[in-house]
Amino acid sequence: MTLSKHQILGQPVNLSPDYWGWLVDRLDRGINTHVVTMNAEMVMQANQNPALAKILQQADLIAADGAGIVLALKFHGINQQRCAGIDLGAKLLELAGERGAACPVALYGGRPEVLLKAVAFWRNRLPGLLIVAQADGYISESAQQELIAQIQQQQPKVIMVALGIPRQEVWIAQNRHICPQAIWIGIGGSFDVWSGTKKRAPKIFQKLNLEWLYRLGQEPSRWRRMLVLPQFMLLALKERLHGR
Ligand code: UDP
Repeated sequence: MTLSKHQILGQPVNLSPDYWGWLVDRLDRGINTHVVTMNAEMVMQANQNPALAKILQQADLIAADGAGIVLALKFHGINQQRCAGIDLGAKLLELAGERGAACPVALYGGRPEVLLKAVAFWRNRLPGLLIVAQADGYISESAQQELIAQIQQQQPKVIMVALGIPRQEVWIAQNRHICPQAIWIGIGGSFDVWSGTKKRAPKIFQKLNLEWLYRLGQEPSRWRRMLVLPQFMLLALKERLHGR
C-alpha cells in the first residue's frame, strides 16, 4: 500500500482516507515506521529547522493532524479528514491490548506523575496490554541510555514518544533503528489527556476543527506558540493564490 504525498509550504503531508489500515498493515508486516502527526506549528518549525525538515522527509507516515493542515489542503482542492495523533495513539494501544504479548509497547514522555497515571489508565482499560518499557520525559541522559537499551532488548512493536515537537521527532529519528520492526509515533500531549491532567476538547470542538481553540482556553500560556497559526494560514493562502 502506498500513500500519496502533498506539500504544504514545502513540508510533506500524506493523504489517505485510511491511515489506520495502512498503519496496521505495516505493523502486521513488521516494517519499521515513523509516524508524524503534522500540524501547522510543525510545518512552521520545519521551515526554520532543516534538521526537523529532513526528519519529516524521511518519516513514513505524515498524518494530517492539525485543523490548519486540513484547511490548507482544502485550499488545494483536497479533502483530507483530520486524524488526531491522540486518536491514532489510542487505537494503537487498543490493538496492542487485544494482541497482548504479540504486540508489546513502550511509552516515553510526560511528567513523571502524568506518565504513571496514563499507564494506570491504559492498564485498567486494557488488561492484556503489555508495556515492556516506560519512562517519563524528564529523565537524565544516563537513564535515557538505559531506556534505549531496554527498548532494544525488549523489541516492543509500538513505541510512543510524548516529548513535544520537535524533541519527539528527533528522538525517534535517532533511535528508530534499534527496533527495526516497530511503529514509532510522536504523540505530543496525549499522556496529559490519558492521565486526566488535561481535558480533551468536547466532540463538537473536534468536529468543527476547533480543538486548538479549546486547548488555548485550557492552556492560555500556549498563546505565544499559537501566534504561528494565523501566520501559517496566511502563507498557505498565499501559496494557493500563487498556484503552487
Ligand atoms: N515533555 C517531556 N519532556 C520534555 C518536554 C516536554 O516529556 O522535556 C512532555 C510534556 O510534559 C507534555 C508533552 O511533552 O506532556 C508535550 O506536550 P505538548 O502539548 O506541548 O505537545 P506538542 O504540542 O509540542 O506536540
